[in-house]
Amino acid sequence: MHFLLGKPPGDRLLLMGNEAICRGALEAGVAVASAYPGTPSSEISNNLFALSQEAGNRLYFEFSVNEKVAMEVAAAAGAAGLRSLTCMKHVGLNVASDVLLTLAYVGTEGGMVIVTADDPAMHSSQNEQDNRLYARFANLPMLEPTTPQEAKDMTAAAFEISEALKLPVILRTTTRTSHMRGPVTLGPIPAEKRTRGAFQADYMRWIPVPLTAKIRHGILLEQIEKGRDLAEASPFNRIEGTGPLGILASGAAACYVADAIRELGAEDEVTFLRLGFTFPPARNLFRRLLAGTERVLVVEELEPFQEEALRLVAQEAGLATPILGKGTGHFTRLNEYSPAEVTRVIAELLGRDPAPPEQPDFSELPELPLRPPSLCPGCPHHATFTAARTALEELGLAERTIYPADIGCYTLAVLPPIQMSDYLLCMGSSIGTSAGFSVATDQNVVAFIGDSTFFHAGIPSLINAVHNRHRFCLVILDNSTTAMTGHQPHPGATLTPPGYDRAVVPIERVVRACGVDMVKRIDPYRTEEAVAAFKEAFTSGALSVVIAEAPCLLYKKKLAGRAKA
Ligand code: SF4
Repeated sequence: MHFLLGKPPGDRLLLMGNEAICRGALEAGVAVASAYPGTPSSEISNNLFALSQEAGNRLYFEFSVNEKVAMEVAAAAGAAGLRSLTCMKHVGLNVASDVLLTLAYVGTEGGMVIVTADDPAMHSSQNEQDNRLYARFANLPMLEPTTPQEAKDMTAAAFEISEALKLPVILRTTTRTSHMRGPVTLGPIPAEKRTRGAFQADYMRWIPVPLTAKIRHGILLEQIEKGRDLAEASPFNRIEGTGPLGILASGAAACYVADAIRELGAEDEVTFLRLGFTFPPARNLFRRLLAGTERVLVVEELEPFQEEALRLVAQEAGLATPILGKGTGHFTRLNEYSPAEVTRVIAELLGRDPAPPEQPDFSELPELPLRPPSLCPGCPHHATFTAARTALEELGLAERTIYPADIGCYTLAVLPPIQMSDYLLCMGSSIGTSAGFSVATDQNVVAFIGDSTFFHAGIPSLINAVHNRHRFCLVILDNSTTAMTGHQPHPGATLTPPGYDRAVVPIERVVRACGVDMVKRIDPYRTEEAVAAFKEAFTSGALSVVIAEAPCLLYKKKLAGRAKA
């Protein structure tokens, strides 16, 4: 039995934030869930997949081909009256944003929750965008947990809010909340839930053409105003303590503030507004905080989202309470915050000298060697890059080749000794940017993309390259899994986890169907044949595709271990 199901209600489990979200969804009776994996959200999809394998849960889960499709699947289930959830990492919401901004207009019937996991400090991402702005952009309610307990409780509450407002609700986490562990008191999982919906066609609601979309936009704005009332009354927004210094904080930073107040013994000096229901802003609470304090410090990572909302409330209310935060240089818009940094700022404002935390003495220890990220020993990508490099060198092309890269383990080819990763924007960008380089330069272009990424965002760009007669070589690194995020399956994968019974869509057939004639399949470990195939592809004078087929070694070992167990 899955560990999230092993204990009765009232018992406690030590859960990661992402696991707590899954438990919250089960307690809310989620019936349909979909995802494209991405760190730091991947454990949500992995656990939902495992839970969907247990017959008793009556949960449909799918790894969708990308985040846009995942959101469309969950949206349709919501439109049919089921409770649905979709999850993705922060940049995944960019992919799904085309759906999101109109989904807000048509809304939902069943509760629908969109989990976005942001990554301040870019532990495993290409940017540190602040997805709270999507809530404001789309006019959708947003909740932000600080602990695993809140992650569970807020997930369950998000379904209720969604059904009350008939709008999808965004649950926004950051890496800290996604991956921190903490005790979680379990609630009951309903014995009955709706698993078959019924869609009621209604042209005026579900078809956003200009005539209807204009009406729906007005309805959306009415609904989000009702959301403001819910935020004002939400137990996730609460004022703690009293004192002349006001502090407003949300997300992981709220934990640091709570710790700092306790450590400084400042409970009687600080009025702390802890926010969990973070959009729309609870203006009355903001007003109370401003009116009851001499100055207010806003502690939030990344963009000055709440700080700007607070300034607006102050201006509307004619309150001149000084607002401190990013605008006053007390905090930065970069990276994650740390407990020490938050404590230092609060202590300074209180006129204290915070005792520096006791540091263990490491002076006797030798310096740790630097460990730059690298491909696993024996990774098949080594063999592919080596064969491609050999072919380019033997053809005298190595010096004048550009290597557009993509998102996956193979991005690490940017580092020595491989150094075959030159330009990267986002999922699928290797193919589109190769097209650009091929028309803008006389250089040779060799792009690398993974199998999962190819399905996610590569196919339209490949069709574009065929149609516009772009000339470059695309290497598809087919290792039969989405390796970087923890080995999730994809439509082309022949190596799949036990119980995963889905149709396989062979990559070569897709590539040929896109209109590519020059297609080679290689086993990168058969070096001579691989080099010969690369040479043919690089000198063909046409758009060529080489599919390098060899399973991810780590995944193969993992599956072999499971089979033995
Ligand atoms: S996880 Fe797999 S694909 Fe990624 S580097 Fe390791 S062996 Fe290679």
